[in-house]
Amino acid sequence: MALRFYNTLSQQVEDFTPASDNTVRMYTCGPTVYDFAHIGNFRTFTFVDLLRKCLRANGFQLNHVMNITDVDDKIIRNAVERRLTLDEYTKIYTDAFMEDCASLRLEVPETIAPATAHIPDMVDAIERLGVSHHTYASDGSVYFKIGSFPSYGKLSHNDFSGNLAGARVDVDEYEKADARDFALWKTPKEGEPFWDTAIGPGRPGWHIECSVMAIKYLGETLDIHAGGVDLIFPHHENEIAQSESLTGKPFSRFWLHAEFLMVEGQKMSKSLGNYYTLRDLVAKGHAPEAIRYLLASVPYRKALNFTVDGLKAAAIAIERLRNFKLRLETDRHAEGLNEKLEARTAQAAQSFSDSLNDDLNTAEALAAVFEFVRDTNSAMDAGEFLAGNAPAALRFFGAFDSIFKVLEPSAKAGELSDAAIEARVAERTAAKKARDFALSDRIRDELLEQGIVLEDTKAGVRWKRK
Ligand code: AMP
Ligand code: ZN
Repeated sequence: MALRFYNTLSQQVEDFTPASDNTVRMYTCGPTVYDFAHIGNFRTFTFVDLLRKCLRANGFQLNHVMNITDVDDKIIRNAVERRLTLDEYTKIYTDAFMEDCASLRLEVPETIAPATAHIPDMVDAIERLGVSHHTYASDGSVYFKIGSFPSYGKLSHNDFSGNLAGARVDVDEYEKADARDFALWKTPKEGEPFWDTAIGPGRPGWHIECSVMAIKYLGETLDIHAGGVDLIFPHHENEIAQSESLTGKPFSRFWLHAEFLMVEGQKMSKSLGNYYTLRDLVAKGHAPEAIRYLLASVPYRKALNFTVDGLKAAAIAIERLRNFKLRLETDRHAEGLNEKLEARTAQAAQSFSDSLNDDLNTAEALAAVFEFVRDTNSAMDAGEFLAGNAPAALRFFGAFDSIFKVLEPSAKAGELSDAAIEARVAERTAAKKARDFALSDRIRDELLEQGIVLEDTKAGVRWKRK
C-alpha cells in the first residue's frame, strides 16, 4: 500500500511522496526549553520519530529540522527570576530534553536549530515583511497584520473575516477565537534581556522563528510540517501567514498533527499540573521502552489516555515479544521449511507495513504482530514450525523493531550489558563441562542477584532479565 497521511490543510487522507529527489524535507516544532518536557510532549515527539522511521522504511531519505525554542515569555520570566542568563537557563533544559529523547530512542533530526542562533535571519525576514506591507510598528514592537493575508485561517479552517482589524496580541500563546495581529518582534520590558538590531532592541515572537528556520534549511516549500494539535492555531496558522507572505509559495504540502496525551479526560499539561516527566516515571521503576511503547501504541490522531495500568500493560506486551524472539532464536526446530507458515509470516509482514503506511496506524500494525506471535507460538508447540521458517520470522521481527524500538532492554545504572552476561554464561558452561559445579552454581547465583535468570534447555542456555 502506498504511504498516505491525513493532511490537516486539505482535511483529506492523501498519498505521500516528497516533491523532489526522494528526500523528505520536514520541519517539526521542538520543545520550549523552560522546564523538563512531560510525557505529553513526548507523545508528539514519539509520533515524529515513528514518522521518520516509516518514511525511511518507504525508501525515502530525510532532511528534518527541529527547532529549540530557547527564548519566549516563560523562559525570560524564569531566567530573570533565577538570575541566570538565557543561555545558562536554557542549556539545562535543552540538555535534559536531548537526554530524554535518547532514553526514548528518538532519533536526532538532521538539524537542530536553536532560535537564538538565528536572530539576524529573523530580523531580515521581519524587515522584508515590512517592505511588502505586512507589518506595522507600535510602541517599539512589530506586528504582523493578519488582514494583509487573505487566506488567514486556511489551516485551522476558521473564518476570521469578522475579526477586529488592528487588534493585537503580545503573548506567544492565545485561544482560538482570538485571532489578532501577532507580535513578530517584541520590545523588551524593564530588566528583560534583548538583542540590539536594525529593527530596534527586543526579541523575536515565537511564530517567526519556525518560518525563518524552516525556509533557511529546507527551502520555500516543505514536504511535511508537523507538531501537536494545539499548534494548529495560532502557531502554524501564523507560520503560514508569515512564510507565504515572504515567498508567495505554499509553505508546506502536508501538515500532520498529533492528538493529545490525556489524563482523566484532560490534556496533560504543565498549567493543569496533571503531568509526569519521563524522569518521574523512570524513577518509579518504569522502563523507558515501556513508555515509548505506550506512546506509540495508539494511532497519533487519536487521543491517548495515560494510566499507570496502561504503562504496566505496555511492559507486559514487550515482555511477550521479547520471549517470543528469544524462542525464535534459541528453540531447536526440525529441519525443513513449512510453506504455509512461510506464507503466514509474509502476510503478517505485509499487514504490518500496510497498517503503518495507512496514516501510521500503529494499533493495527501491533495487532498484526501479536496475531503472528500467537499463531507462530502454536505452530512451534505443535512441532510445525521448522528451522527454515526462523529466518523470515526473525526478519519480520527486525522490521517491527526498526520502527517500534522496544525489544532491546534499557541498561539501568550499574547493570550488566548483554555482552557481559553472554561472557558469564559462557564461563558457566565451561565450568559445567569441566565438572566444576561449585563455580557454575556460583555464576548462576551471581547473575540471579543481578536479576538475570538462566534456563538450561536442550538447545543450550537461555538467559533473560527478570
Ligand atoms: P512545547 O514545549 O509546549 O512547545 O510543546 C512541545 C510539543 O508538545 C508541541 O508539539 C505540543 O503540541 C506537544 N504537546 C504539548 N502537550 C501535549 C499533550 N498533552 N499531548 C501531546 N502533545 C503535546
Ligand atoms: Zn513551530
